[in-house]
Amino acid sequence: MLVFHQISVLQEHLKQLRNQGMTVGFVPTMGALHQGHISLINQAKAQSDIVVCSIFVNPTQFNNAHDLAVYPRTLEADSQMLDTAGCDILFAPSAEEMYPKLPTMKFDFGALETVMEGAFRPGHFNGVGIVVSKLFHIVQPDKAFFGQKDLQQCAVISCMVNELSFHLELVICPTQREEDGLAMSSRNRNLSPEQRAIAPFLYQALNNAKASLLQDKEVSEVKTELAEFLRNIEGIELEYFEISDFDTLQPFHGTLSQNSGGGKIALCIAAFLGKTRLIDNIII
Ligand code: AMP
Repeated sequence: MLVFHQISVLQEHLKQLRNQGMTVGFVPTMGALHQGHISLINQAKAQSDIVVCSIFVNPTQFNNAHDLAVYPRTLEADSQMLDTAGCDILFAPSAEEMYPKLPTMKFDFGALETVMEGAFRPGHFNGVGIVVSKLFHIVQPDKAFFGQKDLQQCAVISCMVNELSFHLELVICPTQREEDGLAMSSRNRNLSPEQRAIAPFLYQALNNAKASLLQDKEVSEVKTELAEFLRNIEGIELEYFEISDFDTLQPFHGTLSQNSGGGKIALCIAAFLGKTRLIDNIII
């Protein structure tokens, strides 16, 4: 695997590969890699000639200084994992390389970012838009691979790709989970053993809510049930639980049988275990 730290050197190398007719699959990450990330690498390998993975802990998408400070950084181990997985190129720029000066322009994703992560992490999706658009311009991939684990991020990037006519295809890959159901996440490493033991209750809470919706219970009742379920688990503090239209991410009302459009519904949760904030979602 080749490792690049500089934008211009990476671009020169990719230009040569593209001139040889090779297609490029791109997996942007913030490192501290786990099997969820590797599943994206595997998809990219299956669908492209060359796989590029970026590792960059993007300061502009953190609205919480503590979260940025404790975000795990494990470049050496990540590099080995990527090499073993058959990734061709790792792009690991410094913050100075990506932002010689902090960007002044702003992304506004409208209603897509007034809910959930956008509402609780002000400025987060502006930072995501800036870094992902920059990375797309640098790598110019044919396909870019993202995880459904970050559902709202997928919606925001899809909006950006469409509205700004990025010439690439987005591929959304399923959430990879630990055996007990906990969605894999770089932040799981910051959990104490006690917190790790109760973390799977988030996924269980989502599945309980799904079962209640399938019994045709009202959204409001299902939300109350979930809040009650998690209130009884010491160490988990619910931040939000939303039942949303999958495409618009706007709140879904009523019962499933009243869902005349029959579109997909997303159940999305964010919760704190101590200082560690975890998110997850499932789709009906
Ligand atoms: P991150 O390093 O957390 O920014 O994630 C990089 C990419 O990996 C994003 O597209 C995430 O949605 C995706 N990802 C993170 N966790 C998982 C998971 N458990 N399963 C599948 N994809 C994931």
